[in-house]
Amino acid sequence: MIRTAALAILLASTALPSVAQTSQAQTPLPAPTSLPHALPPIPAPQDRDYPGVIAIQADLTDLERKIIRVRQTVPVSAGPLVLQYPKFIPGNHADTGPIQLVSGLTVTGAGQRIEWVRDTVDPHAFHLDIPAGVASIEVAFEWLTQPDNSTWRVVMTPEMVNLQWEKALLYPAGYAHSRITFAPSVRLPAGWQQGSALEATGREGDVITFAPISLEHLADSPMFAGAHYRQIDLDPGGRSPVRLNIVADEAANIAPTDEQVEKLRNLVDQADRLYGARHYDRYDFLLALTSKLGGIGLEHHRSSENSARPGFFTDGYQKNFGTLALLPHEYSHSWNGKFRRPSDEYVPNLNVPTQNTLMWVYEGQTEYWGEVLTARSGLATPEEQTIALAESAAFYQNQPGREWRALQDTTNHNLLGYRTSNPWPSWMRGTGDYYREAALIWLDADTLIREATNERKSLDDFARAFYGVEDGVWEARPYTFDDVVQALNAVHPHDWAAFLRSRLDAVGPDAKAPLDGIERAGYRLTYVDTLTPLEKRIQGRWANDFQYSLGFSLAGTRIAGIRWGGPMYEQGIGAGWELLAVGDRTGSAEALRDAVTAAKGGTDPIVLVIKRGDEVRTLAIPYHDGLRYPRLERIEGTRDRLADIYAPRRR
Ligand SMILES: [Zn+2]
Repeated sequence: MIRTAALAILLASTALPSVAQTSQAQTPLPAPTSLPHALPPIPAPQDRDYPGVIAIQADLTDLERKIIRVRQTVPVSAGPLVLQYPKFIPGNHADTGPIQLVSGLTVTGAGQRIEWVRDTVDPHAFHLDIPAGVASIEVAFEWLTQPDNSTWRVVMTPEMVNLQWEKALLYPAGYAHSRITFAPSVRLPAGWQQGSALEATGREGDVITFAPISLEHLADSPMFAGAHYRQIDLDPGGRSPVRLNIVADEAANIAPTDEQVEKLRNLVDQADRLYGARHYDRYDFLLALTSKLGGIGLEHHRSSENSARPGFFTDGYQKNFGTLALLPHEYSHSWNGKFRRPSDEYVPNLNVPTQNTLMWVYEGQTEYWGEVLTARSGLATPEEQTIALAESAAFYQNQPGREWRALQDTTNHNLLGYRTSNPWPSWMRGTGDYYREAALIWLDADTLIREATNERKSLDDFARAFYGVEDGVWEARPYTFDDVVQALNAVHPHDWAAFLRSRLDAVGPDAKAPLDGIERAGYRLTYVDTLTPLEKRIQGRWANDFQYSLGFSLAGTRIAGIRWGGPMYEQGIGAGWELLAVGDRTGSAEALRDAVTAAKGGTDPIVLVIKRGDEVRTLAIPYHDGLRYPRLERIEGTRDRLADIYAPRRR
């Protein structure tokens, strides 16, 4: 999945409308009655073949209404049958299957309607009783995709559709998803093309048929279809195809330069050198250049869904630093997360709950390798990556939430409500931490190995040993915490269990961010009051960022992200205020920067006038340390291990 908070726009929870209390009757409550139908239990998945092949067609043509229509032909035999709608979505690590958007479910067999009953405990399951003599059923329903990104992301625009099969199918309960075969096809809008990891076997008009595939892999093989489409070979003459499939709002967006393509080819090459094996028969990057489709970065075994601004190529990589690590990150998941998969996420079907205890490997190490490969491929420079690392290190150095919540507990965060927003991120902690803080732990481990072995070994050796086995195999190979420790020990003997646990479980007033790797890499985290032009470009939000000075950020003139325990917090201020004035100037980021600078080393407080609704308050903040932005400074006379780590591999 994608990494930063900036991309956490995918799904927001919505509060249920409050229901007005109705007057309570004073008469005694009736005795409980049994349900009209006693529903049989939902069969648990067994490791056995589902007899026959399920044909499925998704009709993507209703762009105007943004409706995806699904028809399935399911071979059946007489008796009870439960159809399930996927609930636990791989890569979301949570129960995000949008059952709320499924409508029009109609089942027929031998020309007759067969009525369904929804399970009253699990609303993702539909009970059917198949009459004798019916050998197959027709299942039809709609996925009512959304007009805006407020609750679910937009997947249909006038120019593109992002079909995710796990949101567009029902499957029979009682069988492992690796043992249920689907024969998929799609109907595209006229003249459109598509990219996906599915193997197209034919096209008739705008209907494309694909080779039969297991449910496990169908759900892992989404499609980007579009009016404007181009495919680029990222591994010409390679041993298995790696392709970039681009769709865009406008045809003119699809204009990568040769140099831009070369860097993406470098990514494929550097990943080969790092991991040393491939676990796919083909890999398809799906990339949408769009301001209309909902943002996405989602990993799959043989493909990934990625989105970027329309100008990703035409404005140049430099203007898109925040997106550059996306493709390297999602590509790394083919090895880390898909081939090697945490054993508690390796579930038999899409309705068995997943657990996420190893997300600091699944996402944390992927975040690490994503950034390393971004530098090694030349997509970004080592200097740019170092500036980004400073931002991450500062964020965790100043994060008070570890006083109550260990990094390990944040791996449960998605199960609490998928990417729920909260007004106190520095205190709550959450999803971002098992990416970015965990990446700091992997830097810690990498530099430890490098130092202890006189640079002979590194975390690259772990990557090759852990992910680079069984070339060509693409069934998942599950792993446990002990497997990670064992593989680290094989690279360099150390008490890795204690190393990892002490960082993952650190909690309490004395708990510290895992920043040892910064120093061992030859750098010191400092704070400066003036940034270089390059730092301003990479730390793109710097102008509105007062996190490490006054302890908040500005969104326009709105006061946001107040740091728990910081100077603004100490003023008793919560969310929802607007900055009206700074001293005798109109409130703005510039006026605030000037005031913080003027107050540096002095004694006069910084005076702010703020407004919430019709309430106005004047604050006098006794802060005199000036503007503070993070920077990693070289420690003279030490080895620059960041330069070592970010250097492209030649072998
Ligand atoms: Zn990820």
